Amino acid sequence: MTAASSARQILTRLHEVMASRIHAQGKLDRVVEIIGESLDSEVCSIYLLRDHMLELFATRGLNKSAVHVTRMAIGEGLTGTIAQQVETLNLAEAKAHPDFKYRPETGEEKFHSFAGVPIVYHERAVGVLSVQHVEQRRYEDVEIEALQTTAMVLSEVIANAGLIDEHDPAALSEAQTGMQTISGLKLVKGLAAGTAVFHQPRVTIDQVMADDIEAERHRVYSAFDRMREQIEHMASQAEFRGGGEHEEVLETYKMFAYDEGWSRRINEAIDSGLTAEAAIERVQQRTRMRMREIDDPLLADRMHDLEDLSNRLLRIVAGQLGTAASQGLKRDTILIARNLGPAELLEYDRRRLKGVILEEGSLTAHVVIVARAMGIPVLGRANGLRAVVCEGDEILLDASKAVATVRPTAQIAEAFDRRFAKSRERQAAYAELRDVEPFTRCGTRIQVMMNAGLRDDMNALQLTGADGVGLFRTEFQFLVSATLPQRERQTRLYRDVMDAAGERPVIFRTVDIGGDKAVPYLRSDTSVQDENPSMGWRALRLALEREGLLKAQARALLEAAAGRTLHVMFPMVSEVWEFDAAQQVFEEQLAFLKRQKKIVPEAINYGAMLEVPALAEMLDLLLPKVGFVSIGTNDLTQFLFAADRANPKLAERYDWLSPAILRFLRRVLQTSAGYDAEIGICGEMGGRSLEALALLGIGYRRLSITPAAVGPIKELVRRVDLNEISSAMNDWLADPGCDLRANLQAWAKERGIEFD
Ligand code: PEP
Ligand code: MG
Repeated sequence: MTAASSARQILTRLHEVMASRIHAQGKLDRVVEIIGESLDSEVCSIYLLRDHMLELFATRGLNKSAVHVTRMAIGEGLTGTIAQQVETLNLAEAKAHPDFKYRPETGEEKFHSFAGVPIVYHERAVGVLSVQHVEQRRYEDVEIEALQTTAMVLSEVIANAGLIDEHDPAALSEAQTGMQTISGLKLVKGLAAGTAVFHQPRVTIDQVMADDIEAERHRVYSAFDRMREQIEHMASQAEFRGGGEHEEVLETYKMFAYDEGWSRRINEAIDSGLTAEAAIERVQQRTRMRMREIDDPLLADRMHDLEDLSNRLLRIVAGQLGTAASQGLKRDTILIARNLGPAELLEYDRRRLKGVILEEGSLTAHVVIVARAMGIPVLGRANGLRAVVCEGDEILLDASKAVATVRPTAQIAEAFDRRFAKSRERQAAYAELRDVEPFTRCGTRIQVMMNAGLRDDMNALQLTGADGVGLFRTEFQFLVSATLPQRERQTRLYRDVMDAAGERPVIFRTVDIGGDKAVPYLRSDTSVQDENPSMGWRALRLALEREGLLKAQARALLEAAAGRTLHVMFPMVSEVWEFDAAQQVFEEQLAFLKRQKKIVPEAINYGAMLEVPALAEMLDLLLPKVGFVSIGTNDLTQFLFAADRANPKLAERYDWLSPAILRFLRRVLQTSAGYDAEIGICGEMGGRSLEALALLGIGYRRLSITPAAVGPIKELVRRVDLNEISSAMNDWLADPGCDLRANLQAWAKERGIEFD
């Protein structure tokens, strides 16, 4: 007998019971008879959760007088263990199990073998279905599977009969009840409280039994087709990382999407009488269980991918395709996702989105930069997240300490509130520094500018008192737009931004698209796939080839800056000629505007970003041509270390406080001495206190940083004596064995400088 045919026999008979007019208790009594007969089992019992206890609701084979009398706590005896762990037990000798508990009123002493499966409803155990046998034997796989499928159907039967108390807190597995702590990697520091919302909502299955098996089969077939199309599409996009997925994951997706075994198992589950949704879930449950028995981290990773894909298939079948953003956030939210693209994050309502927890993520991934700019704390690399968090759970996120507390106790919530209040006080203290100019203790004025990318970010300029915008990421407008932003729209944005900045300079960076900043309407038109998008066709490389794009942007910037100074820089300049070519595009547009008798900028201050190490070797040729150089340490670091900034596996691999980077940056300054061009840093590094201290120590006087860091960095600047820190940095960088992080921390501590 196959699993499908045995389950199907049971299901067909259950169908009749369900359709009959008898009352709920009568139905359960019939159900245990049917299952017992079909599995040729002397005992079959159903326990359901009532008032926090598992109560024997129906039995064949045990003493009938025990019905509604025998009650077990969650975690008590074999039945309680199954419910607590949401796990199947299959035992040849029940008494030999350490959790076995004898209940004399049931008369079960003569039975030896025991198998039980949880009855799960909306991901929670609401009961247990068990069979027992006089003979000592382990149940066969087909029998266990039939039992599991039956339990799935039973959950629907008893839900329809109103026998499920879903809100009973005992209906939760151990990991889903009580407080849990998740730890991860601090990506954007800060505190936030809110309700858990899954970026990709989970599908809840309401109908388990199929009315028409062929129709269900058809639904699954077309869902498979759709899913394969989606995956092919993602893979064919040169910049598929926009969705947050990585190549490796995509490869695994592909492997599973075409895996015959997977589709066959789903098909078999449909044969047994389940709906498409239930069949997908059933197969997934089974895989989960198998995987749990194999303790292998590599396989666990794969399992993760299969879970994702299975969820995707479910969403396609159920027609629930949108993300939580499209459904709108209703309360203060902590968003839960495996990974996100920057554009996906920007789709959320900024007023409601309080924090993000990612299973992946790395410090300089653009989604993290965007979140930082939005002031949204992010915890990354939070393993095992999905096993612990349910949609709607209360979460306290302390990204500064790299932890999140799920379903906090009142005590923990109070302590958190106190910390939250303190942090707000600190923020208020930083706000007081708004009009204080950042002079060091030794009297040097440091330029503290901020990074921005959206119109809304400009409020931060007034709030923080930054010296201007040192990096305006113009591509954000492209990322949040479904189509290429027209020139007029660009002009309007740039003009608004300059108006908001008033007298303070704004350095516009021309579009840096590509890498992990993908836009669907601008794809590589070469037949060559970018294997490494961040080193591929992106930024200025793309802009110089798509000249229309750069021309339009140049014109928009020149028109917006009419009568003022335009500061513009080019991203990812690798060779000096690229800077020349980009400048040429601007000069041509300028000449055009002049011919048209339009008002043009008073002056244009051109700059280049130093992100590609090769450019550092050409500074003597570049510096005479530019007004400034801005070092993008996010990209520079990934190229110096050959470590992909978006790859979560490398998230902790390189350190901005490593001597290689600091020596490199120091050498750039030394080479630039004697030229007029200003040299500054605009990568994330400058916004981190220890790193900023190191940068001041090696001679940097201009930092452009995320708005939230402006206050803390100004405060730091005011406490530093440059002579002291630069001589210390010189010593440390000359000492090969030194731990720079520890030294900087100790140095700051000695001087009473505190960091968050
Ligand atoms: C950088 O690379 O450091 C930088 C500032 O640019 P982006 O992070 O936008 O690539
Ligand atoms: Mg960059």
